[in-house]
Parts: sequence; structure tokens; C-alpha cells
Amino acid sequence: MKITIFGTGYVGLVTGACLADVGHEVLCMDVDEGKIERLKNGQIPIYEPGLAGIVSHTVEAGRLSFTTNVEEAVAHGVLQFIAVGTPPDEDGSADLQYVTAVARSIGQFMDGYKVVIDKSTVPVGTADKVRAAVQAELDRRGLDHDFDVVSNPEFLKEGAAIQDFMKPDRIVVGTDSEKAAELLQEVYYPFNRSRDRMVFMDIRSAELTKYAANAMLATKISFMNEIANLAERLGADVEAVRQGIGSDPRIGYHFIYPGCGYGGSCFPKDVQALARTASGVGYDAKLLNAVESVNYAQKHVLFDKVSHYFQGNLDGKVVALWGLAFKPNTDDMREASSRTLMEDLWKAGAKVQAFDPEAMEETQRIYGDRDDLVLCGTKEQALKGADVLVICTEWKEFRSPDFELVASALREPVVFDGRNLYEPEMLDRYDLIYYAIGRGTNQ
Ligand code: NAD
Repeated sequence: MKITIFGTGYVGLVTGACLADVGHEVLCMDVDEGKIERLKNGQIPIYEPGLAGIVSHTVEAGRLSFTTNVEEAVAHGVLQFIAVGTPPDEDGSADLQYVTAVARSIGQFMDGYKVVIDKSTVPVGTADKVRAAVQAELDRRGLDHDFDVVSNPEFLKEGAAIQDFMKPDRIVVGTDSEKAAELLQEVYYPFNRSRDRMVFMDIRSAELTKYAANAMLATKISFMNEIANLAERLGADVEAVRQGIGSDPRIGYHFIYPGCGYGGSCFPKDVQALARTASGVGYDAKLLNAVESVNYAQKHVLFDKVSHYFQGNLDGKVVALWGLAFKPNTDDMREASSRTLMEDLWKAGAKVQAFDPEAMEETQRIYGDRDDLVLCGTKEQALKGADVLVICTEWKEFRSPDFELVASALREPVVFDGRNLYEPEMLDRYDLIYYAIGRGTNQ
């Protein structure tokens, strides 16, 4: 099938590449000329395991191509996926300007039936706005083409996006059109061979499903962080508690890891946007607001621990930082806990020597050159001349470091671990003082 995707970010590019991989003819459109130029030259603008290989072989096979030309993009596919960003507005609600811009473009150039598919995460009621924007352009042109608007939220996880797209837990489709439903079934057939992955529902429920999923996951994290903070004050070990509760199948082990807060481009903005949606309909979403405020505080917990260790005097201290990306296997730094930590440290006069396996370029892009940030080529280099070590992202390569080297390289033998990667006894053996999240009173 001929498919157009608007937006070649994490979602758009992965969607385009995976749909082309199973045989569809995909044209990806983006307003970012630099991005499209790089993609045309075979460069992948983001780090996502497995993506580069799929992009290169589908491009070679002629099934995946890129453009900045809107007219060409609208003409290409009967199916028009919208996968542009929906960043938070000033008040935390989702900014729909990019989504409606695409909808207007579709209305401006469509010359026959189209299915407009919202893959971006958008508040309930957005499909109506998309429909109105397309229709307004058609009216302006004096045309009466038929079209459907579908909500098809995306659930992929950065770092495992290809796997998630190829083997989805579910494919949610919100539509009131049988014709659109059949077309979506055909598009997704290769990913739904067992015929039990597609969940059809009305549009508003589909829109809400995405927010409910992310809000639930964020709630699990904030809940565990609250228990971790309690554990610290009560002399308990949250890791033991995690094991103890996860064994109950009603709770389960997934997504109950305490840490230095959630980040990324989705949870923070989606929890906020859902809370704003709630207040827009006169409902005070107390739980969602609490999830957000627990997370906000949790992102400062590592700084508080470092500051406490140095009795509030961080001026001139050098902090080695392992992990900058908001989670492993991505270079995405949006809302990353490392950013909160670095900014807190800088404000207090400390210097950061940082290493991340993938997010170095992104860090450089965000912060540029500054005296209080040194980007190091390896995790070992980051330790040289540093006072203490802080870990913000649970990359595999941080799991079993050379502790002897860590102990000898640091001026003070102290490790602050925002992801609970180690057992306290393990570090004890190397005479390293260990501060983790929610592990006993010595925190
Ligand atoms: P992104 O910021 O990585 O990419 C968005 C892209 O859209 C950019 O390349 C931008 O240049 C482009 N764009 C903006 N306006 C455009 C226009 N008018 N026409 C064409 N392209 C345009 O965003 P993302 O992370 O891929 O997220 C996209 C959407 O998917 C968001 O709503 C997000 O909440 C949702 N989502 C993201 C993830 C994730 O893990 N990143 C997962 C599920 C859902």
C-alpha cells in the first residue's frame, strides 16, 4: 500500500521504516530540511537499535523515500499518518500546532479519498480538530473529497522501538468508518498474523487509551519512588520491598524500579497534558498531579544526596557523571534526570565530567561549550580527577565496572547511584561508600 508519514522523528521514522520493511511503499515527509537531507544521504538522525539497517535496505529496495515537499507527500498515500511532535504548551497541555498544520496541508492538496491517521499522542477531541482543519481547506478550495480521521496511538518504547513496532502488544485503532478500519487492517496485517493484536474502538477512547497507558506507567514509577523515599527514612531496603511486592501477580515485577525520576519525551508531557485535559472538563485529577509532583521532586534527589554529602558546599567540586540519556539504548535527552542534576550542580558551583555511550552529541547540542561541563570519551576518563561518581542512566556497560579503578580514581570514594545498579555489599568490598535510592538509612 502507498503510505505517507508526516514527521520523521522517533515515531515517524520507525513507523515508516517498519511499514516499508514488510512491503509497503512509504514516503516520509518532514519540514526539517537538514533531517531529510541527512536521511537522503543515508544518515540516521537518531540512535535507535536496528533502525539504520532497516532504513538502508528499504531505501535501497525503493520502498522508503524522503521528502520535504508537502504536495508530493499528500499525493503519495491514501493513508496519511501524522507522527509529528506534540510538545507541552506553556500551561502543560499538548501543543497541537504541528498536528493541525499537517491536517491543513492534507486538506490543501488532497485530490481524492484519504485516511488521516493520528499517530502522535493527542488529547481527546483532537480528531475532531483534525477533521475540521482538513474540511476547512477543502471548503476553501470549493472541493468535496471524502476522508476519514482515525486515531492510532503509538506505544513503541525508544531503545526497543523496532521490536515493539514489529511485535506489538496491541495496535489500537479508533475509528467510526468501516472503510478506514479495513484499510488499517490491511496495513497492519503483517504485524497481526495471530489476529489478536488489533483493538478497534471509538476515536475518543483510542485517544484516551494512549494517555491512560502512559499515566499508569508513570504512576507505577512515582509510586515506587515514594516507597523508596519512605524506605530511606524508615531504614528499609526498597529493593527487597520491590521483590516482595512484585511476586504478587496482581502487581508484577514490571516497571516498579525506583530511581532518580522518569524523563523522556512522553511520560512527563503526557501526565501533564492529561491532568490539563481533566481540569479542562472540571475534574481535579489529584492522582495525576501527585504523580507529576513526586517525579519533579525525585529528579532532585541525587543532587540533594551529593549536596548533603559535601555539607552543602559544592563550589569547585568535580562530579563524574555516568549516563546522560533519559534511559538506556537511546540518545534522547528530553526531560532526562541527568539534566536536572547537572543544572543543580552547576548552580551550586560544581563541575561535571560526563560520559554516555550515545548521548554525547545531543548533550553538546543542548549545552554547547561551557567551562563546567567536560564531555569525556569513556566512563573511565570521566572519573579522572573527579571527587565523586553519580550514575543517572542504567546503561549495560555501567553494571559491572572496574570498582578498583573507580575507588582509586575518585578523590573521595563515593558512588551515588540513581538507578540502583549495585548491591551495597559489593561496593563495600572496594571501600566505596554507596548511596542509592531507597536502600536503608545510610542514604
Ligand atoms: P520527534 O520530535 O522526534 O519528531 C517529530 C518530527 O515532526 C520532527 O522531525 C519535526 O521536524 C517533524 N514535524 C514538525 N512539524 C511537521 C510538519 N508540519 N510536517 C512534517 N513534519 C513535521 O517526535 P517523536 O518522539 O517521534 O514523537 C512524535 C509523536 O509521537 C508525539 O506526539 C509523541 O508524544 C508520540 N510518541 C512518541 C514516542 C516516543 O517514544 N518518542 C512513543 C509513542 C508516541
